[in-house]
Amino acid sequence: MKRRVTVLGAGPAGLWTALSLLEKHSEIEVTVIEKENSPGGITGSFRYRDLIFDYGSHRLHPATSSSLMGRISDLLGDDLLKRPRNGRIWLEERFISFPLKPVDLVFHLPFSFSFGVVLDSLTSVFSSRSEGVSFEDTLRSGLGKTISERFYFPYAEKLWGLSPADLSPVQAKKRIASLSIGKMMKKVLSSVGSSSGSSGYFYYPVNGFGQIASRAADAVVNLGGKIILDTEVVSVTPPSEKQHGTVVTAGGSKFETDFLFSTIPVNNLAGILDPAPPPSVVEAAGGLLFRSMVFCFVEVRKSQYTPYDAHYLPGLDTCFSRLSEPRNYSGTDEPQGRTGLCFEIPCTEGDGVWSLDDDGILKLVLDDLAKTDLPELEVAGFVVKRMRNIYPVYDHAFSRNLSTVEEFLTRYSRMVSYGRQGLFVHDNTHHTMEMGVAAADCLSADLHWDTEKWADYRELFSSHVVVD
Ligand SMILES: Cc1cc2nc3c(=O)[nH]c(=O)nc-3n(C[C@H](O)[C@H](O)[C@H](O)COP(=O)(O)OP(=O)(O)OC[C@H]3O[C@@H](n4cnc5c(N)ncnc54)[C@H](O)[C@@H]3O)c2cc1C
Repeated sequence: MKRRVTVLGAGPAGLWTALSLLEKHSEIEVTVIEKENSPGGITGSFRYRDLIFDYGSHRLHPATSSSLMGRISDLLGDDLLKRPRNGRIWLEERFISFPLKPVDLVFHLPFSFSFGVVLDSLTSVFSSRSEGVSFEDTLRSGLGKTISERFYFPYAEKLWGLSPADLSPVQAKKRIASLSIGKMMKKVLSSVGSSSGSSGYFYYPVNGFGQIASRAADAVVNLGGKIILDTEVVSVTPPSEKQHGTVVTAGGSKFETDFLFSTIPVNNLAGILDPAPPPSVVEAAGGLLFRSMVFCFVEVRKSQYTPYDAHYLPGLDTCFSRLSEPRNYSGTDEPQGRTGLCFEIPCTEGDGVWSLDDDGILKLVLDDLAKTDLPELEVAGFVVKRMRNIYPVYDHAFSRNLSTVEEFLTRYSRMVSYGRQGLFVHDNTHHTMEMGVAAADCLSADLHWDTEKWADYRELFSSHVVVD
Protein backbone atom coordinates (compact mmCIF):
# COMPACT_ATOMS: atom_id res chain seq x y z
CA MET A 1 0.00 0.00 0.00
CA LYS A 2 1.23 3.52 -0.83
CA ARG A 3 2.18 5.74 2.12
CA ARG A 4 -0.54 8.32 2.70
CA VAL A 5 0.28 11.96 3.36
CA THR A 6 -2.42 14.53 4.10
CA VAL A 7 -1.97 18.29 3.80
CA LEU A 8 -4.46 20.54 5.62
CA GLY A 9 -5.12 23.78 3.71
CA ALA A 10 -4.64 24.60 0.01
CA GLY A 11 -3.01 28.02 0.42
CA PRO A 12 0.49 28.56 -1.00
CA ALA A 13 2.16 26.64 1.87
CA GLY A 14 -0.06 23.57 1.44
CA LEU A 15 0.02 23.58 -2.37
CA TRP A 16 3.81 23.91 -2.57
CA THR A 17 4.22 21.11 -0.03
CA ALA A 18 2.02 18.83 -2.11
CA LEU A 19 3.72 19.81 -5.36
CA SER A 20 7.25 19.33 -4.01
CA LEU A 21 6.37 16.00 -2.36
CA LEU A 22 4.87 14.62 -5.58
CA GLU A 23 7.86 15.78 -7.63
CA LYS A 24 10.20 14.02 -5.19
CA HIS A 25 8.35 10.85 -4.24
CA SER A 26 6.08 9.15 -6.77
CA GLU A 27 5.49 6.39 -4.21
CA ILE A 28 3.67 8.73 -1.77
CA GLU A 29 -0.08 9.36 -2.04
CA VAL A 30 -0.79 13.04 -1.36
CA THR A 31 -4.22 14.45 -0.44
CA VAL A 32 -4.84 18.16 0.23
CA ILE A 33 -8.01 19.06 2.15
CA GLU A 34 -9.31 22.63 1.86
CA LYS A 35 -12.40 24.19 3.45
CA GLU A 36 -13.04 26.78 0.70
CA ASN A 37 -14.36 25.97 -2.77
CA SER A 38 -11.16 27.03 -4.56
CA PRO A 39 -7.44 26.75 -3.84
CA GLY A 40 -5.14 29.63 -2.90
CA GLY A 41 -6.18 30.63 0.63
CA ILE A 42 -5.66 34.37 1.06
CA THR A 43 -3.77 34.44 -2.27
CA GLY A 44 -6.78 33.20 -4.25
CA SER A 45 -8.85 35.23 -6.74
CA PHE A 46 -12.49 35.07 -7.81
CA ARG A 47 -14.63 36.41 -10.64
CA TYR A 48 -17.58 38.75 -10.22
CA ARG A 49 -19.36 39.74 -13.44
CA ASP A 50 -16.21 39.38 -15.61
CA LEU A 51 -14.04 41.27 -13.15
CA ILE A 52 -11.21 39.40 -11.43
CA PHE A 53 -10.70 40.23 -7.75
CA ASP A 54 -7.94 39.23 -5.29
CA TYR A 55 -8.48 39.14 -1.52
CA GLY A 56 -6.77 42.48 -1.05
CA SER A 57 -3.74 43.84 -2.82
CA HIS A 58 -1.39 40.98 -3.70
CA ARG A 59 1.91 41.19 -5.56
CA LEU A 60 4.71 38.70 -6.02
CA HIS A 61 7.71 40.56 -4.67
CA PRO A 62 11.14 40.66 -6.37
CA ALA A 63 12.54 39.35 -3.04
CA THR A 64 11.33 35.90 -4.20
CA SER A 65 14.37 33.60 -4.52
CA SER A 66 15.54 32.84 -8.05
CA SER A 67 14.87 29.11 -7.66
CA LEU A 68 11.26 29.70 -6.57
CA MET A 69 10.82 32.37 -9.25
CA GLY A 70 11.99 29.83 -11.84
CA ARG A 71 9.37 27.32 -10.70
CA ILE A 72 6.59 29.92 -10.70
CA SER A 73 7.63 31.05 -14.21
CA ASP A 74 7.54 27.42 -15.38
CA LEU A 75 3.96 27.15 -14.13
CA LEU A 76 2.74 30.46 -15.57
CA GLY A 77 4.91 31.03 -18.66
CA ASP A 78 4.08 34.30 -20.43
CA ASP A 79 1.12 34.83 -18.09
CA LEU A 80 3.51 36.08 -15.39
CA LEU A 81 3.99 39.82 -15.93
CA LYS A 82 6.65 42.17 -14.58
CA ARG A 83 4.83 45.37 -13.62
CA PRO A 84 5.84 48.79 -12.31
CA ARG A 85 4.64 49.73 -8.81
CA ASN A 86 2.41 52.76 -8.67
CA GLY A 87 0.92 53.27 -5.23
CA ARG A 88 -0.05 56.23 -3.05
CA ILE A 89 -0.50 56.81 0.65
CA TRP A 90 -2.95 59.22 2.33
CA LEU A 91 -0.79 61.07 4.81
CA GLU A 92 -1.54 64.40 6.46
CA GLU A 93 -4.69 64.92 4.34
CA ARG A 94 -2.93 64.42 0.98
CA PHE A 95 -1.79 61.60 -1.27
CA ILE A 96 1.94 61.02 -1.79
CA SER A 97 3.78 58.16 -3.56
CA PHE A 98 4.16 54.88 -1.76
CA PRO A 99 6.78 53.45 -1.34
CA LEU A 100 7.92 56.86 -0.10
CA LYS A 101 10.05 59.17 -2.27
CA PRO A 102 12.39 61.88 -0.86
CA VAL A 103 10.84 64.61 -2.99
CA ASP A 104 7.41 63.97 -1.42
CA LEU A 105 8.82 63.89 2.09
CA VAL A 106 10.48 67.26 1.56
CA PHE A 107 8.04 69.16 -0.66
CA HIS A 108 4.63 67.51 -0.43
CA LEU A 109 4.15 67.06 3.30
CA PRO A 110 3.35 69.86 5.76
CA PHE A 111 6.41 71.71 7.03
CA SER A 112 5.65 70.56 10.59
CA PHE A 113 5.95 66.92 9.46
CA SER A 114 9.19 67.28 7.44
CA PHE A 115 10.72 69.53 10.10
CA GLY A 116 9.68 67.07 12.82
CA VAL A 117 11.42 64.21 11.00
CA VAL A 118 14.62 66.26 10.60
CA LEU A 119 14.52 67.22 14.29
CA ASP A 120 13.90 63.59 15.31
CA SER A 121 16.87 62.50 13.15
CA LEU A 122 19.17 65.01 14.85
CA THR A 123 17.91 64.04 18.30
CA SER A 124 18.46 60.36 17.51
CA VAL A 125 22.18 61.02 16.85
CA PHE A 126 22.59 62.18 20.46
CA SER A 127 20.33 59.70 22.22
CA SER A 128 20.92 55.99 22.72
CA ARG A 129 18.32 53.58 21.34
CA SER A 130 16.59 51.40 23.89
CA GLU A 131 15.36 47.86 23.23
CA GLY A 132 11.74 48.74 23.94
CA VAL A 133 9.10 46.84 25.87
CA SER A 134 6.27 47.58 23.46
CA PHE A 135 5.61 48.42 19.81
CA GLU A 136 5.08 51.98 20.98
CA ASP A 137 8.42 52.65 22.62
CA THR A 138 10.39 50.55 20.11
CA LEU A 139 9.12 52.80 17.34
CA ARG A 140 9.42 56.03 19.26
CA SER A 141 13.03 55.23 20.09
CA GLY A 142 13.91 54.04 16.57
CA LEU A 143 11.87 56.28 14.27
CA GLY A 144 11.21 59.29 16.47
CA LYS A 145 8.01 61.01 17.55
CA THR A 146 6.83 62.40 14.19
CA ILE A 147 6.78 59.27 12.00
CA SER A 148 5.60 57.14 14.94
CA GLU A 149 2.73 59.31 16.11
CA ARG A 150 1.55 60.70 12.80
CA PHE A 151 1.88 57.55 10.70
CA TYR A 152 2.70 54.21 12.36
CA PHE A 153 0.69 54.37 15.59
CA PRO A 154 -2.73 54.94 13.99
CA TYR A 155 -1.86 52.46 11.22
CA ALA A 156 -0.90 49.80 13.78
CA GLU A 157 -4.12 50.31 15.70
CA LYS A 158 -6.14 50.13 12.50
CA LEU A 159 -4.48 46.94 11.23
CA TRP A 160 -4.11 45.01 14.48
CA GLY A 161 -6.88 46.44 16.65
CA LEU A 162 -4.75 47.21 19.72
CA SER A 163 -3.11 50.38 20.92
CA PRO A 164 0.65 50.52 20.15
CA ALA A 165 1.38 50.21 23.89
CA ASP A 166 -0.48 46.89 24.01
CA LEU A 167 1.52 45.40 21.13
CA SER A 168 4.74 43.46 21.63
CA PRO A 169 8.04 44.97 20.38
CA VAL A 170 8.26 41.83 18.20
CA GLN A 171 5.39 43.20 16.10
CA ALA A 172 7.63 46.18 15.27
CA LYS A 173 10.68 44.04 14.48
CA LYS A 174 8.72 41.66 12.26
CA ARG A 175 6.62 44.18 10.37
CA ILE A 176 8.84 47.22 9.99
CA ALA A 177 11.99 46.52 8.03
CA SER A 178 13.64 49.92 8.71
CA LEU A 179 13.47 50.50 12.44
CA SER A 180 15.70 53.57 12.57
CA ILE A 181 15.39 56.93 10.82
CA GLY A 182 18.80 56.37 9.20
CA LYS A 183 17.75 53.04 7.71
CA MET A 184 14.42 54.42 6.58
CA MET A 185 16.06 57.40 4.85
CA LYS A 186 18.59 55.09 3.17
CA LYS A 187 15.71 53.02 1.82
CA VAL A 188 13.83 56.09 0.62
CA LEU A 189 16.98 57.52 -1.03
CA SER A 190 17.77 54.19 -2.72
CA SER A 191 14.49 54.54 -4.63
CA VAL A 192 15.58 57.83 -6.24
CA GLY A 193 15.11 57.75 -9.98
CA SER A 194 14.74 54.00 -10.09
CA SER A 195 11.81 52.02 -11.21
CA SER A 196 14.28 49.16 -11.55
CA GLY A 197 15.11 49.09 -7.83
CA SER A 198 13.42 46.22 -6.03
CA SER A 199 10.72 48.51 -4.60
CA GLY A 200 9.87 49.78 -8.09
CA TYR A 201 8.33 46.66 -9.63
CA PHE A 202 6.56 43.39 -8.86
CA TYR A 203 5.32 40.25 -10.61
CA TYR A 204 1.67 39.56 -11.25
CA PRO A 205 -0.23 36.98 -13.31
CA VAL A 206 -2.41 38.14 -16.19
CA ASN A 207 -5.55 36.55 -14.65
CA GLY A 208 -5.21 37.67 -11.06
CA PHE A 209 -2.85 36.72 -8.23
CA GLY A 210 -4.85 33.53 -7.67
CA GLN A 211 -3.60 32.20 -10.99
CA ILE A 212 -0.35 31.20 -9.24
CA ALA A 213 -2.28 29.00 -6.82
CA SER A 214 -4.60 27.59 -9.46
CA ARG A 215 -1.64 26.61 -11.70
CA ALA A 216 0.09 25.00 -8.70
CA ALA A 217 -3.14 23.13 -7.90
CA ASP A 218 -3.37 21.89 -11.53
CA ALA A 219 0.23 20.69 -11.31
CA VAL A 220 -0.54 18.80 -8.07
CA VAL A 221 -3.45 17.03 -9.76
CA ASN A 222 -1.40 16.29 -12.91
CA LEU A 223 1.21 14.59 -10.74
CA GLY A 224 -1.45 12.34 -9.22
CA GLY A 225 -2.24 14.31 -6.04
CA LYS A 226 -5.81 14.87 -4.82
CA ILE A 227 -7.23 18.23 -3.79
CA ILE A 228 -10.51 17.99 -1.93
CA LEU A 229 -12.26 21.38 -1.82
CA ASP A 230 -15.25 22.63 0.17
CA THR A 231 -14.27 20.34 3.02
CA GLU A 232 -13.55 21.67 6.48
CA VAL A 233 -11.41 19.57 8.79
CA VAL A 234 -13.04 19.41 12.23
CA SER A 235 -11.03 16.75 14.04
CA VAL A 236 -7.47 15.45 13.79
CA THR A 237 -5.91 12.40 15.45
CA PRO A 238 -2.22 12.71 14.57
CA PRO A 239 -0.47 9.62 13.14
CA SER A 240 2.49 7.96 14.86
CA GLU A 241 5.13 5.41 13.77
CA LYS A 242 2.85 2.67 15.15
CA GLN A 243 -0.58 3.83 14.09
CA HIS A 244 -2.17 5.76 11.26
CA GLY A 245 -3.88 9.06 12.08
CA THR A 246 -7.40 10.17 11.22
CA VAL A 247 -8.74 13.39 9.78
CA VAL A 248 -12.47 13.99 10.16
CA THR A 249 -14.35 16.54 8.04
CA ALA A 250 -17.46 18.61 8.76
CA GLY A 251 -19.43 16.31 6.45
CA GLY A 252 -18.42 13.30 8.58
CA SER A 253 -15.90 11.78 6.11
CA LYS A 254 -12.82 10.15 7.63
CA PHE A 255 -9.37 10.04 6.05
CA GLU A 256 -6.64 7.77 7.34
CA THR A 257 -3.16 9.20 7.06
CA ASP A 258 0.44 8.19 7.77
CA PHE A 259 1.84 11.74 7.91
CA LEU A 260 0.13 15.08 8.40
CA PHE A 261 1.19 18.55 7.22
CA SER A 262 -0.96 21.30 8.72
CA THR A 263 -1.08 24.83 7.30
CA ILE A 264 -4.34 25.81 9.02
CA PRO A 265 -4.25 28.32 11.92
CA VAL A 266 -2.21 26.77 14.73
CA ASN A 267 -4.81 27.73 17.37
CA ASN A 268 -7.54 25.98 15.35
CA LEU A 269 -5.35 22.89 14.98
CA ALA A 270 -4.83 22.72 18.74
CA GLY A 271 -8.59 23.10 19.19
CA ILE A 272 -9.51 20.12 16.96
CA LEU A 273 -6.93 17.62 18.20
CA ASP A 274 -8.28 14.29 19.38
CA PRO A 275 -7.48 13.56 22.16
CA ALA A 276 -7.70 17.19 23.30
CA PRO A 277 -4.50 18.79 24.65
CA PRO A 278 -4.23 19.63 28.38
CA PRO A 279 -6.23 22.72 29.50
CA SER A 280 -3.08 24.89 29.70
CA VAL A 281 -2.42 24.29 25.98
CA VAL A 282 -6.07 24.88 25.03
CA GLU A 283 -5.98 28.13 27.00
CA ALA A 284 -2.72 29.24 25.35
CA ALA A 285 -4.16 28.44 21.89
CA GLY A 286 -7.27 30.47 22.76
CA GLY A 287 -5.00 33.39 23.71
CA LEU A 288 -3.52 33.64 20.18
CA LEU A 289 -5.38 36.48 18.51
CA PHE A 290 -5.99 36.95 14.81
CA ARG A 291 -7.35 40.06 13.15
CA SER A 292 -10.09 39.49 10.55
CA MET A 293 -11.04 41.46 7.47
CA VAL A 294 -14.15 42.51 5.61
CA PHE A 295 -13.49 42.95 1.90
CA CYS A 296 -15.82 45.20 -0.08
CA PHE A 297 -15.45 44.51 -3.81
CA VAL A 298 -17.09 47.19 -5.93
CA GLU A 299 -17.88 47.21 -9.64
CA VAL A 300 -17.56 50.77 -10.95
CA ARG A 301 -18.96 52.22 -14.19
CA LYS A 302 -15.68 53.53 -15.54
CA SER A 303 -12.83 51.94 -17.53
CA GLN A 304 -10.30 53.01 -14.93
CA TYR A 305 -10.94 54.57 -11.53
CA THR A 306 -7.38 55.95 -11.07
CA PRO A 307 -4.02 54.99 -12.67
CA TYR A 308 -2.75 53.79 -9.25
CA ASP A 309 -2.61 50.14 -8.25
CA ALA A 310 -3.10 50.71 -4.52
CA HIS A 311 -3.98 53.51 -2.13
CA TYR A 312 -2.87 53.04 1.48
CA LEU A 313 -4.90 54.79 4.20
CA PRO A 314 -3.19 54.49 7.58
CA GLY A 315 -5.47 56.91 9.48
CA LEU A 316 -8.20 55.85 11.88
CA ASP A 317 -10.72 58.24 10.28
CA THR A 318 -11.35 55.84 7.37
CA CYS A 319 -12.53 52.25 7.87
CA PHE A 320 -10.43 50.82 5.02
CA SER A 321 -6.66 50.46 5.22
CA ARG A 322 -6.13 49.93 1.51
CA LEU A 323 -7.99 50.34 -1.75
CA SER A 324 -6.73 48.48 -4.81
CA GLU A 325 -7.76 48.37 -8.45
CA PRO A 326 -6.91 44.90 -9.84
CA ARG A 327 -6.95 45.97 -13.50
CA ASN A 328 -3.94 48.21 -12.83
CA TYR A 329 -1.99 45.25 -11.42
CA SER A 330 -2.20 43.29 -14.66
CA GLY A 331 -2.43 46.34 -16.95
CA THR A 332 -5.43 44.90 -18.78
CA ASP A 333 -8.01 47.13 -20.47
CA GLU A 334 -10.76 44.51 -20.35
CA PRO A 335 -13.66 44.71 -19.70
CA GLN A 336 -14.29 48.11 -21.26
CA GLY A 337 -16.32 50.69 -19.36
CA ARG A 338 -16.13 48.84 -16.01
CA THR A 339 -13.48 48.34 -13.40
CA GLY A 340 -13.28 46.71 -9.98
CA LEU A 341 -12.11 48.09 -6.65
CA CYS A 342 -11.24 46.21 -3.48
CA PHE A 343 -11.54 47.92 -0.10
CA GLU A 344 -9.77 46.16 2.81
CA ILE A 345 -11.45 46.79 6.16
CA PRO A 346 -9.51 45.33 9.11
CA CYS A 347 -11.74 44.29 12.02
CA THR A 348 -12.18 41.71 14.75
CA GLU A 349 -14.54 38.78 14.32
CA GLY A 350 -17.86 39.66 15.95
CA ASP A 351 -17.25 43.43 16.26
CA GLY A 352 -19.49 46.14 14.83
CA VAL A 353 -17.88 46.14 11.37
CA TRP A 354 -17.72 42.34 11.08
CA SER A 355 -21.42 42.09 11.97
CA LEU A 356 -22.63 44.91 9.71
CA ASP A 357 -24.82 43.79 6.78
CA ASP A 358 -23.48 44.18 3.22
CA ASP A 359 -25.37 47.42 2.47
CA GLY A 360 -24.02 48.87 5.71
CA ILE A 361 -20.46 47.99 4.68
CA LEU A 362 -20.87 49.71 1.29
CA LYS A 363 -22.29 52.81 2.98
CA LEU A 364 -19.35 52.89 5.41
CA VAL A 365 -16.90 52.67 2.51
CA LEU A 366 -18.62 55.40 0.48
CA ASP A 367 -18.91 57.74 3.48
CA ASP A 368 -15.21 57.30 4.30
CA LEU A 369 -14.15 57.65 0.66
CA ALA A 370 -15.69 61.12 0.73
CA LYS A 371 -13.18 62.09 3.45
CA THR A 372 -10.32 61.71 0.95
CA ASP A 373 -9.40 63.30 -2.41
CA LEU A 374 -10.45 60.18 -4.29
CA PRO A 375 -13.11 60.51 -7.00
CA GLU A 376 -16.72 59.58 -6.27
CA LEU A 377 -17.84 56.10 -7.27
CA GLU A 378 -20.59 55.19 -9.68
CA VAL A 379 -21.39 51.78 -8.20
CA ALA A 380 -22.70 49.18 -10.66
CA GLY A 381 -22.61 46.28 -8.22
CA PHE A 382 -20.78 45.06 -5.15
CA VAL A 383 -20.02 41.98 -3.13
CA VAL A 384 -18.82 41.73 0.47
CA LYS A 385 -16.69 38.86 1.81
CA ARG A 386 -15.49 38.25 5.35
CA MET A 387 -12.26 36.40 6.20
CA ARG A 388 -10.91 35.32 9.57
CA ASN A 389 -7.21 34.80 10.34
CA ILE A 390 -5.93 37.72 8.30
CA TYR A 391 -3.21 39.16 10.56
CA PRO A 392 -1.65 37.52 13.63
CA VAL A 393 -1.77 39.99 16.52
CA TYR A 394 1.34 40.09 18.68
CA ASP A 395 0.08 41.25 22.06
CA HIS A 396 2.30 40.95 25.11
CA ALA A 397 1.19 37.37 25.78
CA PHE A 398 1.57 35.99 22.25
CA SER A 399 5.13 34.73 22.61
CA ARG A 400 4.35 32.74 25.77
CA ASN A 401 1.11 31.35 24.31
CA LEU A 402 2.77 30.38 21.03
CA SER A 403 5.67 28.62 22.77
CA THR A 404 3.23 26.61 24.91
CA VAL A 405 1.29 25.43 21.86
CA GLU A 406 4.39 24.75 19.74
CA GLU A 407 6.11 22.83 22.50
CA PHE A 408 3.04 20.64 22.90
CA LEU A 409 2.91 19.92 19.16
CA THR A 410 6.53 18.63 19.13
CA ARG A 411 5.27 15.42 20.78
CA TYR A 412 3.79 14.38 17.44
CA SER A 413 6.57 12.88 15.34
CA ARG A 414 4.37 12.58 12.24
CA MET A 415 2.59 15.92 12.23
CA VAL A 416 4.01 19.38 11.58
CA SER A 417 2.39 22.84 11.60
CA TYR A 418 3.74 25.70 9.45
CA GLY A 419 2.80 28.31 6.83
CA ARG A 420 1.66 31.82 7.75
CA GLN A 421 -1.21 30.47 9.88
CA GLY A 422 0.60 27.45 11.25
CA LEU A 423 3.55 29.47 12.56
CA PHE A 424 1.49 32.56 13.48
CA VAL A 425 3.66 34.87 11.36
CA HIS A 426 3.15 37.79 8.97
CA ASP A 427 5.08 36.22 6.10
CA ASN A 428 4.64 36.91 2.39
CA THR A 429 3.48 34.45 -0.24
CA HIS A 430 7.02 33.61 -1.40
CA HIS A 431 8.03 32.84 2.20
CA THR A 432 5.14 30.43 2.66
CA MET A 433 5.84 28.71 -0.66
CA GLU A 434 9.46 28.26 0.48
CA MET A 435 8.10 26.76 3.71
CA GLY A 436 6.14 24.24 1.64
CA VAL A 437 9.23 23.29 -0.36
CA ALA A 438 11.26 23.01 2.87
CA ALA A 439 8.64 20.83 4.58
CA ALA A 440 8.66 18.40 1.64
CA ASP A 441 12.46 18.38 1.74
CA CYS A 442 12.39 17.12 5.35
CA LEU A 443 10.25 14.06 4.62
CA SER A 444 11.83 10.94 3.14
CA ALA A 445 10.00 8.39 0.99
CA ASP A 446 9.65 6.08 4.03
CA LEU A 447 8.10 8.99 5.99
CA HIS A 448 11.07 9.68 8.18
CA TRP A 449 10.89 13.31 9.33
CA ASP A 450 14.30 14.99 9.56
CA THR A 451 13.92 16.99 12.79
CA GLU A 452 17.36 18.60 12.61
CA LYS A 453 16.92 19.78 9.06
CA TRP A 454 13.51 21.20 9.96
CA ALA A 455 15.05 23.04 12.94
CA ASP A 456 17.55 24.64 10.52
CA TYR A 457 14.71 25.67 8.22
CA ARG A 458 12.78 27.12 11.17
CA GLU A 459 15.85 29.20 12.00
CA LEU A 460 15.88 30.44 8.41
CA PHE A 461 12.14 31.23 8.51
CA SER A 462 12.67 33.35 11.62
CA SER A 463 14.90 35.66 9.53
CA HIS A 464 12.15 36.37 6.97
CA VAL A 465 11.59 40.07 6.36
CA VAL A 466 8.04 40.91 5.33
CA VAL A 467 7.78 43.08 2.21
CA ASP A 468 4.81 45.47 1.77
C1 LIG B 1 -4.61 41.63 2.87
C2 LIG B 1 -3.36 40.84 2.56
C3 LIG B 1 -2.54 41.22 1.52
C4 LIG B 1 -1.37 40.50 1.24
N1 LIG B 1 -0.58 40.89 0.21
C5 LIG B 1 0.52 40.19 -0.09
C6 LIG B 1 1.37 40.58 -1.17
O1 LIG B 1 1.13 41.58 -1.84
N2 LIG B 1 2.45 39.81 -1.45
C7 LIG B 1 2.75 38.70 -0.72
O2 LIG B 1 3.76 38.06 -1.03
N3 LIG B 1 1.99 38.29 0.31
C8 LIG B 1 0.88 39.01 0.65
N4 LIG B 1 0.08 38.62 1.69
C9 LIG B 1 0.44 37.40 2.44
C10 LIG B 1 -0.09 36.13 1.77
O3 LIG B 1 -1.47 36.24 1.56
C11 LIG B 1 0.22 34.94 2.69
O4 LIG B 1 1.61 34.87 2.88
C12 LIG B 1 -0.22 33.60 2.17
O5 LIG B 1 -1.58 33.57 1.86
C13 LIG B 1 0.03 32.54 3.24
O6 LIG B 1 -0.19 31.27 2.71
P1 LIG B 1 -0.53 30.04 3.66
O7 LIG B 1 -0.72 28.87 2.78
O8 LIG B 1 0.48 29.95 4.73
O9 LIG B 1 -1.90 30.46 4.38
P2 LIG B 1 -3.38 30.73 3.75
O10 LIG B 1 -3.28 31.42 2.45
O11 LIG B 1 -4.14 31.40 4.83
O12 LIG B 1 -3.91 29.26 3.53
C14 LIG B 1 -4.41 28.45 4.58
C15 LIG B 1 -5.52 27.60 4.01
O13 LIG B 1 -6.03 26.72 5.02
C16 LIG B 1 -7.45 26.61 4.84
N5 LIG B 1 -8.05 26.15 6.10
C17 LIG B 1 -8.11 26.79 7.29
N6 LIG B 1 -8.76 26.04 8.20
C18 LIG B 1 -9.10 24.89 7.59
C19 LIG B 1 -9.77 23.70 8.01
N7 LIG B 1 -10.22 23.54 9.28
N8 LIG B 1 -9.97 22.70 7.11
C20 LIG B 1 -9.50 22.83 5.83
N9 LIG B 1 -8.85 23.94 5.38
C21 LIG B 1 -8.66 24.94 6.24
C22 LIG B 1 -7.84 28.05 4.48
O14 LIG B 1 -9.13 28.09 3.87
C23 LIG B 1 -6.72 28.44 3.53
O15 LIG B 1 -7.01 28.11 2.20
C24 LIG B 1 -1.05 39.36 2.02
C25 LIG B 1 -1.89 38.98 3.07
C26 LIG B 1 -3.01 39.72 3.36
C27 LIG B 1 -3.87 39.31 4.51
